[in-house]
Amino acid sequence: MLVIGNWKMHGDRQRLAEVVAIDRHVRRGCSARVALCVPATLIAAARGSVEAVVIGAQDCHQAVGGAFTGRLSASMLADAGAQMVVVGHSECRAAGDDDAAVGAKVTAAIGAGLEPVLCVGETSAERDEGLTAAVVVAQARAALPGRVVEGLALAYEPVWAIGSGRLPQEGDIAAVIAALRRCLVDLYGVEGSDVPILYGGSVSAANAAALLGIDGIGGLLVGSASLSADSFVPILAAAG
Ligand code: PEP
Repeated sequence: MLVIGNWKMHGDRQRLAEVVAIDRHVRRGCSARVALCVPATLIAAARGSVEAVVIGAQDCHQAVGGAFTGRLSASMLADAGAQMVVVGHSECRAAGDDDAAVGAKVTAAIGAGLEPVLCVGETSAERDEGLTAAVVVAQARAALPGRVVEGLALAYEPVWAIGSGRLPQEGDIAAVIAALRRCLVDLYGVEGSDVPILYGGSVSAANAAALLGIDGIGGLLVGSASLSADSFVPILAAAG
């Protein structure tokens, strides 16, 4: 299992104590691979304070460099200490990232040696229209790389489930995972069976064990509940 925490735009240097506490738990024995995607300002310090937790970024620019004021390239994030990057998060898609940009970001991440975690997910209107599988498979097809790279992962995050406290039925998550798996095997053959497919959206200690029991699930992407060891460690414990 791969369990990733996405801190979003939360956390200053004081919160590094949480990174250290989460790392301590993982070092003591955790069967999941654990990553924390912290704000870019904390990447270097977080990387310097962990032994077992993978440190990641939450987004990258698709260009290698250039006149993009305020943006960060994948190689800059890698240089700061990031090992992984989330791309295509619905909050970035809402801010303007289309499938082409998300695909270019995946390519940039791979070029910089970062493990790309590609997020896909339907809006509540798309869900109501019965388009969930079609939407997420189209997003995946548009942005997945031409070959399986080390650390490549997909995260299914229904837009309406993020931060809302609402989750799909377990059977609905299993159906989406199955559709994404078919897409991965179609694209990559047998290698597509090994790419982890995570679920994200209102994951908490109360629902983590049930989610991790869903057929085909490869882990979790956790937002607000990853901000402190108190709320994240019980989720990690559910992974074993
Ligand atoms: C997320 O932002 O990726 C996320 C899953 O958030 P939350 O767990 O807070 O719903």
